[in-house]
Amino acid sequence: MSEKKFNKKFMHPTRRKLVDMVHNGEYQKDTQISLSDVKEQTKRNVGDVWEENGVIWEQKSYGRVKQSRASSELSKVRQYLEEKSKCRATDCDSKKYSNSDKTLISKTGFCSVCLSKREQIIKLDGLWKEYEEYEILKYGSTWNGCFTKMESSIE
Ligand SMILES: [Zn+2]
Repeated sequence: MSEKKFNKKFMHPTRRKLVDMVHNGEYQKDTQISLSDVKEQTKRNVGDVWEENGVIWEQKSYGRVKQSRASSELSKVRQYLEEKSKCRATDCDSKKYSNSDKTLISKTGFCSVCLSKREQIIKLDGLWKEYEEYEILKYGSTWNGCFTKMESSIE
């Protein structure tokens, strides 16, 4: 018993507290096991960029540095690109986009849910045929035909 006490003296205070907790079965509310050691050990590679408490850091070969203004401009660009890849519908409630959603957004501006909602309205309005024709016109497959007709009517 006395030997145990002797050993404990040489323990790290945090460890000693832990051992006491286990031995006494008592939990001290103010006991905190520090994670700072763990945090510092997080390995960063040179060029890594990460955010910590709202500050953007970049890992250089000599240590981590706070990001400059130029890189905050970069984050604006990133934000712009993010907005470009978002559904345009104001009533959109898609939380996550699937790959096909992303393709649709880049082509039509709407995710699949919003696009089908819109198309549903068009169908209900009885304008589906016009819509389809408009889609064809937009993609230009009948454009050449129209153009030739216009020319011949001028002559
Ligand atoms: Zn949407």
